[in-house]
Amino acid sequence: MSFSFTLPKWYDLHTHMRQGALLAPLIEQHLKMGCAGILAMPNTKPPVAKVLKSDAGADLSIEEYVSQLNAAGGHAFSDIIAPLYLSAATTAQMITAGAQSGLLRAAKYYPPHGTTNSEKAMSLSHFIQNGVIAALEEHGVVLCIHGEKHDVEGEAYFGRGTNAEEAFYEEKMHLLCASFPNLKIVAEHITTKIAADFVNGCGGNVAATITPQHLLYNVGHMMQGLKYHLYCMPVVKFEEDREALRRAVLDPLNTKFFAGTDSAPHCVKATPCGCAAGCYTGGIAPQLYAQAFENAGADLSNAKTQQAFIHFLCTNGAQFYNLPVPSETFTLSRRPSEVHALKTELGTITPLPIGMLSTQATSTTLNWSVEC
Ligand SMILES: [Zn+2]
Repeated sequence: MSFSFTLPKWYDLHTHMRQGALLAPLIEQHLKMGCAGILAMPNTKPPVAKVLKSDAGADLSIEEYVSQLNAAGGHAFSDIIAPLYLSAATTAQMITAGAQSGLLRAAKYYPPHGTTNSEKAMSLSHFIQNGVIAALEEHGVVLCIHGEKHDVEGEAYFGRGTNAEEAFYEEKMHLLCASFPNLKIVAEHITTKIAADFVNGCGGNVAATITPQHLLYNVGHMMQGLKYHLYCMPVVKFEEDREALRRAVLDPLNTKFFAGTDSAPHCVKATPCGCAAGCYTGGIAPQLYAQAFENAGADLSNAKTQQAFIHFLCTNGAQFYNLPVPSETFTLSRRPSEVHALKTELGTITPLPIGMLSTQATSTTLNWSVEC
């Protein structure tokens, strides 16, 4: 059965656009899937860890990164948010001045050494002690949190009874939220029932992004054939976790969970000494989210289910970040479309559904298609 529905254009509120020659092709793919805007993560090299170009230090500034994104086609977005990478160089004064300049709208906490280009990050307690978190709260700057406990051994990183994300939410987040009750927090790319329950238990100042892959797959899908294109941080978890995430996005009253793809392209994904973390879903994220709704048993031909989908993809995130819900629309159709490997000057990027195939392929068919 083929059917279509029309949605407002949406904001991908967690994505990786990288730098240099990757910017233009990645931006083009995001525009192609109905994105009105992006929140482009700051784990570049050097990181986006200062606000103005004229600020001290060799880091990239928000000012420079946004202008690079605009020059590479990003001017077609109605908005680009570039969060500040919280590092040893971040001070409370920098947060205050950045917020007053209007350029600083979000900041990103990475667990030190916890994911791609996070070696300049510092612990959460460092930013509590030096007043950075208090300044974020005071100025209404959103704190985007990669919620995994850092510096743990393999046993604690991923076990049957515990993992780095659960430990972070149980040991760190309660304290953070209790100490800074007005701090706007986005729990990024949550993967566990414990994180979903935590967010549900908080006030309206705490929300969460969920990726397509964490709604579509669990750890069994990654282990079966060692599908390394599904390897991302935090890694996909167990079925009861996926069920909790699916319940969160399918809830017709959901206001706290929204789309942030964490689309993270790598030209070289697996190497002889490990695997880069991140799944590439640029160009196909609404199609994958729709597939995830369908796999969870939702009937997207039903107007009420379409509303829940629109809350998740288009409106909850915009409202949390005080962005206008776009009047421009795009169409999602239950009609097959082809996805191809993305060739760039720096190498080929494999979209996740192609990486999940057990045969070597450079394209595959999705059940959904998008027209802008
Ligand atoms: Zn990310």
